Amino acid sequence: MTAIPLRADTLDLIGNTPLVRLAGPSEAAGCDIFGKCEFANPGASVKDRAALYIVRDAEARGELKPGGTVVEGTAGNTGIGIALVANALGYRTIIVMPDNQSKEKMDTLRALGAELVTVPPTKYSDANHFVHTSRRLAEETEGAIWANQFDNTANRKAHIEGTAKELWEQMEGRIDGFTCAAGTGGTIAGVGMGLKQFDETVTIALTDPHGAALYDYYAHGELKSEGSSVAEGIGQGRITGNLEGAPIDTQFRISDEEGLEWVRRLLREEGLCLGLSSGINVAGAVALGRQLKAQGHEDPRVATILCDTGFRYLSTLYNADWLRSKDLPVFDWLEGAA
Ligand code: PMP
Repeated sequence: MTAIPLRADTLDLIGNTPLVRLAGPSEAAGCDIFGKCEFANPGASVKDRAALYIVRDAEARGELKPGGTVVEGTAGNTGIGIALVANALGYRTIIVMPDNQSKEKMDTLRALGAELVTVPPTKYSDANHFVHTSRRLAEETEGAIWANQFDNTANRKAHIEGTAKELWEQMEGRIDGFTCAAGTGGTIAGVGMGLKQFDETVTIALTDPHGAALYDYYAHGELKSEGSSVAEGIGQGRITGNLEGAPIDTQFRISDEEGLEWVRRLLREEGLCLGLSSGINVAGAVALGRQLKAQGHEDPRVATILCDTGFRYLSTLYNADWLRSKDLPVFDWLEGAA
């Protein structure tokens, strides 16, 4: 008998990801830090979960019909998830992306058969922002739905019913803290809400990159941003529909340098190749572990999200020239490489 279940179809491969204890972060925090391996999803990111829930929800509401089209604006990972889910269910995919995101994500979307539209990066208030462009395209396309991951709460439902429940089971009900960064906010809000249903004393912390406005919002009630980050997929400037009512107890602000140091260490010391949002999340988890210890928890157990694979950033995070161009430290083994 095998303990690894047979999955009934390919969409069943989404979710039920492994959870791993991270040795370096645990040592740094002085308590156990766990990472949920979302890069193990078929599309190699946490966003496969939201993609599946959004598509299934649109079908259930009768909006998405056979032969229909799914349109979405995305930093890339949600698009990759939607393209795979849509392929599996027989839908067409149109993805709108800002053109400053990694080339790997654009190449991947085209390879999966999505129709890719790129737009210049602009402020959310600009009419040509990728989110508004995708909404217009959906309105103009016969038989299309707009996935609307930022405000469609089918996104966070994927994490209430999936990620949070899995974490609770994998940690056998012994979890003291959870933290991650927010893009749409679906993960932090959904995991936070889901874990609080099991145990309302679990501390939910937002980990915000520089340049995002949520740290100030949860700390002082004001949306305010300072600085910037090269991390893709995170860094939110408004309270999205998914963030409304999110049970955030505390917050940390993490720099790209701190996040990159964990990306470097997790690769070289633990053999995990991750994107920068994962490194920022791990830095936040270490900060949360230390805070819980300082508050008197003897042996807190903290979980975070390892959001996507580093293979998606070979031309950026793992490229010496690119790192130098952003004034970021170059990984020593890349030093001397072009
Ligand atoms: N990390 C990466 C790499 C992502 O693409 C995203 C999604 N935009 C996130 C983190 C954040 O997830 P969420 O949208 O659930 O806040």
